[in-house]
Order: sequence, then C-alpha cells, then structure tokens
Amino acid sequence: MFKSTLIALTIVLALPYACAPAYRFDAPRAFTGSHFYNPYASSSHTWHRANLHAHGRSWLGLTSASQTDAEVADAYRRRGYAVAAISDYQKIATEAGTDALPAYEHGFNAGKHHQLALGATRVSWFDFPVWQGVDQKQYVIDQVRKSAALVAIAHPSSMSGYSYSEDDFRRLTGYQLIEVINGRFTAENLWDAALSAGHPVWAIGNDDTHDISDPNRFAIAWNTIDAPSKAPADIVAALQAGRSYATLRIGDTDGTEDVTISSVDMHDDELTVTTAGPEARFSFVGQNGEVKKVVRDTKRASYAFIDGDSYIRTVVETPARTLYLNPVVRYDGATLPWPSATIDRWLTSFQRGGILAVCALLTLSLVRRTPMWQRRGRQARKLPRVAAFVIPIAAATTGRADAQDAPKPLPTALREGVAYQSSFDAALVAALPAADSVFSFLETAQAETISTRISGGGLGFGAAPR
Ligand SMILES: [Zn+2]
Ligand SMILES: [Zn+2]
Repeated sequence: MFKSTLIALTIVLALPYACAPAYRFDAPRAFTGSHFYNPYASSSHTWHRANLHAHGRSWLGLTSASQTDAEVADAYRRRGYAVAAISDYQKIATEAGTDALPAYEHGFNAGKHHQLALGATRVSWFDFPVWQGVDQKQYVIDQVRKSAALVAIAHPSSMSGYSYSEDDFRRLTGYQLIEVINGRFTAENLWDAALSAGHPVWAIGNDDTHDISDPNRFAIAWNTIDAPSKAPADIVAALQAGRSYATLRIGDTDGTEDVTISSVDMHDDELTVTTAGPEARFSFVGQNGEVKKVVRDTKRASYAFIDGDSYIRTVVETPARTLYLNPVVRYDGATLPWPSATIDRWLTSFQRGGILAVCALLTLSLVRRTPMWQRRGRQARKLPRVAAFVIPIAAATTGRADAQDAPKPLPTALREGVAYQSSFDAALVAALPAADSVFSFLETAQAETISTRISGGGLGFGAAPR
C-alpha cells in the first residue's frame, strides 16, 4: 500500500507540470530611445502612504498570523496609512473596509515563489507545489494576472535567493511590480536585472507582517503613492504608471517624519530630484545596477543622461530612511516596451507528451501492483478508492493542460475555491495517503491548500511557516 500511495502521489504532483508550456522569452534588451519616460511626470502632488502586504488570521487559523484582518487594517490606519491592503494567502480579505485594495498573496509551494495579486477579483488556485523553473514561474504569473489588476513578485530574494534569480528577472514578464523591500530585506540586484533587460517594472516596499506587535514587521517598509485619491482605481493606476516610491525605515527612529520626495522632474536629458526634510545622500543608479553619481548632504540633486544610459533610478538615504524611486527610462515616446514570452508549441507538446506518458505508465503500474480481479478482501477494496482519487484529478488536470493555450476562465469549482468547499466521503478519506494529523490529510486531499504555511508534516518542508 505504501508504494501505491507513493506512486499515486507522484502522479498527482507531476500532472500540473503538463500544464506549463515551454516559453520562448524575448532576449534581454536594454531600454533605448530618444525620449524619457518619467513615471512622476503627471503628478497629482497628493501622496498616500500604503502597505500592500500584510496577513491577518485566515483559513481557521491554519496560516500563521496573530491578529484578524480588521485589527491589522485598523493598526495601519491609526498609524496614518491611507491604504492598508490585507493580503491573506489564497483569500481576498473583505474585512479591511472600503478603502482597502482587494488583494491576496498567491503561492503554496516549497520554494516560496509568491505573488501579490493587487486589485484582485478572484483567487487563482493554480500552482506547482514542489519545484518551479522559469517556465512554471511564468505560467503562474499568467494565471494570477487573469484576475488581478496588478501582479507583484513578493519577497523575490527569499530562501537566500532561491525563490527568484537574476536570470529569472531577465526573462519573466507579465507582472508590473517587484517587492524590492520586504520587511528589512531588500532585493535591488533583482530589480536591476529586470530593468537592465528592458522590463519596465516598478518597486514596492511592504512589511509582510504576520504580527503587528512585532516591531521588526510593522511600519518598517511602505509605499508613498502619488494618486488623486485613495480609491482603489486611482491607487492601481498610480502603481501601474510607477507614480510611487518605496521607503525602508532604518533602526527605531519611527516617531518623526524624515526625508520625503517633493518632485522628480526631467528637463531635456536632465533628471532632478527634490526632497523635503533633512539633507540626504542621493545615488543615481543605472544599467546593471552601476552607481553613476553620488551627491551628499543635499535636498536637491540632478543627473544628466549620457548616450549609454538606458535607465536611471534614484536612491535617497538618511540615517533613518532609504527611499527607492522608480527609474526614468529611455523609450520611443509612445509606449513602454513590454517584453513577451511566447509559447514554443513543439517543445510544449513534447514536454506534455512525456509527462503524460510517464503518468500513464505509473498509473498502469499502480493497477498491476494490485490486480483486483484476482483478489478479494481488504487489499482489493482499497484499490478503487485510490483510483477514485487519482483518476478525477488526472482528468481535471489534463483537461486544463489541453485548454491552457487559449486563455479561458478556470473551472467554476476552482474559481470558487475548491479547497474550502470540497467534501469527501468516509471511504475516500480512508484511502487518502494521509499521515498522522489533520494537516497532512488537508495537504494530500487537496494540493491547493496552503501547504507551505502548515506546520505538522507533509509537503510544507524546508522552511518555517511565515
Ligand atoms: Zn510570501
Ligand atoms: Zn506574505
């Protein structure tokens, strides 16, 4: 029975890989053009402080968070935030009030490849729980963006850089934002990898708090968004245009206001950044993260583009704050480039065929292992239960593999959140490959549960839940 269970589990975990196509990514190409896109050009001069990544208690307490969604949203409002998005795992929080951006954090995989879905209308339940290469990461982004206004790559440098590599960011496309600051962790090199490859993606900074009483995870990183109002549509439009900057608080000096941005202007080929508050150090950073110029002890500094400069972004530092401004990039004066990932049909068919053939062989070996027509008794009775578990999942997943090239809405059951609503009869439960706790049952019964967030064994190995 153990081997049969192992084979059944292998089939279930392997089948999603038949969904991901093999992509042909555009070659990296630095920003070019005689015009400059300044994200701050159409400023409304109304700035809103926003946290876009915070967790409340959800999923009956299975995911780690210390307060309710409403308590988390209230804490941010009391701290003076205009926007306090709650980004629970695989769930759009509604308790956060009308000003909140509908959002959730997507991802239930061992590698912490997570995305923030901002302005989300429904939850995407597709993921690869075990391993993800760049094709799988791209496919997940494509799924999440179908029902979200904006996709942000969350904590890209987590797991010591395993989650997303610089090479990933030279190729991945279809997302708009990258969480350059997550708590006290930064990922400037990954952002520069994307920008240097010609991807116009903007920085965000968030607490990713799971406990608002933890001083290292509350009001540490935030966004200052230039939008005419704090209504979700205005906030989304501003983030999409790059009209915001991310702030990291250094040390414990959180009581008073520190340096803030007053204006970012382009005149001909000269970029000028003006700040309010104490004097600061300005660094102008360009292609491949190269620091092109540093100006110290000032409230206003300029940088004149030269021919080889594809983009220039500004970092403003005081002892208490680091501000990451979005870059001014070269473009054609009409539209920003949007590198594409097209599907390689031959390689995709070859990959899918291989995965499905292996799954078919494994299923055959499962059937042969327990020839039910020759046996009676307990062993024979268990086989149909395992088959009843594997076959519908195989059928459902294969169906999505066939359908994925032409974008279609996910099946209703998946849209509505199958993990939450599934029911299992006693016979099926007995046959499931579950271990010693209800958590392992949840993981094996439904691969789309928040498996990396569950302590108690099963698939969520490798890192403490967060
Ligand atoms: Zn995460
Ligand atoms: Zn998170």
